[in-house]
Amino acid sequence: MLNIILCGAPGSGKGTQSGFIVEHYGLQHLSTGDVLRAEIATGSELGKQIDTLISKGNLVPDDMMYGVIENYIANLPADCKGTIFDGYPRTVAQAESLTKLLKKYNMDAIMIDLLVDEQLLIQRLIERGKVSGRADDNLNTIRHRIAVYHQQTEPIAHYYLHHGNYYAVNGNHMMPDVFLQIKRIIDREK
Ligand code: ADP
Repeated sequence: MLNIILCGAPGSGKGTQSGFIVEHYGLQHLSTGDVLRAEIATGSELGKQIDTLISKGNLVPDDMMYGVIENYIANLPADCKGTIFDGYPRTVAQAESLTKLLKKYNMDAIMIDLLVDEQLLIQRLIERGKVSGRADDNLNTIRHRIAVYHQQTEPIAHYYLHHGNYYAVNGNHMMPDVFLQIKRIIDREK
């Protein structure tokens, strides 16, 4: 079982690299952003609350996210080779919860951190906004999401460094080159 936490700022390429990893290693992909957007699409009351938070670039509360992850892990198929956690954890509290949940099922995870310069992040997200139709891919919200990332998500790097399962990847390169770096890490670990 190989669980990978793919971390990085908005626009760092988590979704793209997750796709490559899924294809190459046959892992399952859990994108919490996709789960939340699917809830919004149902038009439910919960979806409306989530929409208000996401479209402003704010995080969804930890307790709401916990339910999503708990449910996912409890229902993993027996033949699952592992999961890429894309977009979770995003706070130190979420990292602590995930460690505990994985432990409960005798699992662990490595953390791969995609490091990308801020100017490039903004450029990529503005480009994505032209086609994604995502309410949060506009300049003001992008800047806020990056600030939220620095404040709330970046500290989890120290959490995983401290736990000895942290790997940094230079995400400024072209997509295939970034994937090569990720492959080297995974092939050493699996
Ligand atoms: P990106 O990382 O490119 O901003 P995502 O699709 O991963 O995009 O996430 C979009 C939004 O969904 C985030 O800005 C946040 O509001 C919400 N979200 C996703 N995952 C989490 C999480 N683990 N905790 C809280 N909010 C989350």
